[in-house]
Amino acid sequence: MLVSFTLAEGGLQEQSILPELAQLEQLIAGAPADLHTEVLTYVGHMSQKLPLYGLSLGNTAADKPAVLLVGGVHGLERIGTQVVLAYLQTLLQRLPWDLCLQHTLENCCIYVIPLLNPAGMANGWRANGNSVDLMRNAPVNCTEQAAWLVGGQRISRAIPWYRGRTDKMEIESQALVDFVCSNLFNRPFSLVLDCHSGFGSTDRLWFPYAKSRRQPIAHLAEMYRLRQLLAQTYPYQNYIFEPQAQHYLCHGDLWDYLYDLSLASNTNMLPLTLEMGSWNWVRKNPFQLLSSLGMFHPVKPHRVRRVLRSHLILINFLINATMSYQNWLPLSQREQLQAEARQLWY
Ligand SMILES: [Zn+2]
Repeated sequence: MLVSFTLAEGGLQEQSILPELAQLEQLIAGAPADLHTEVLTYVGHMSQKLPLYGLSLGNTAADKPAVLLVGGVHGLERIGTQVVLAYLQTLLQRLPWDLCLQHTLENCCIYVIPLLNPAGMANGWRANGNSVDLMRNAPVNCTEQAAWLVGGQRISRAIPWYRGRTDKMEIESQALVDFVCSNLFNRPFSLVLDCHSGFGSTDRLWFPYAKSRRQPIAHLAEMYRLRQLLAQTYPYQNYIFEPQAQHYLCHGDLWDYLYDLSLASNTNMLPLTLEMGSWNWVRKNPFQLLSSLGMFHPVKPHRVRRVLRSHLILINFLINATMSYQNWLPLSQREQLQAEARQLWY
């Protein structure tokens, strides 16, 4: 364990270098044997090697569907990792007594990568330890006009959104790609939720592509049906569900890349990115702009707690929708849903 850490407030503990990793290791140490833990790789940080953990709970048989929760792709967006850890903590507490969860885990598998970019988070950077933006690092190019700089650049690693080398992905990106290929592609169905923050004032659920505004994904009808299911089941939720390309186009998006890879594997993988709207946190507390994390993280402890609990319903919904995918995936009305989705988004 890196540092001592108390779970008391769930707030940002600025005095320790990586409280999220300490919290994760504390959860792993106290977890029941049902939690399977793997170190996917080690990431260099100063003189240390930080572990990149991949966890799983539930039935790993290839005919069962799976959910993957990811956090901490961007090191500054600590709240993403904290949301995933809060959910993991709840899951582990429910495990010994909750028959509903036990039934769920017999019928699907929950994978968790809570902190993909530990060196970036330890540095307080968006990028990884090599100054590469992992969400611009995949070998995929925007097919239209990518946003200038923000959409990924190879001018200099001193400028944010640096894409990294053309011949080789960063070890964190490669670890995610390997994990997804070996754990999700052999299944009939999977859903991914990758948790980020920093864009807009409303919570958004984004799906690929980030590389094209014109070309929809092959699973557009399925995404539209999932959005419909969420809106009908939880009419008072206020996530905006849309293709990422509605806001900006970028190169090297890991989910664009993995989604395209999934198409060749005869599987159904629906990747979502949760973009937690941070501008309200700033509006309510402008002083947090004085901190480098301020744009990406709610600073006041009560606001952190509110964020940590506000996405529990969404994650439970995604797990239940995964387990029950055969009951809602569009089959007969696929063409009609596709047409409605095109009208809404394209
Ligand atoms: Zn992000």
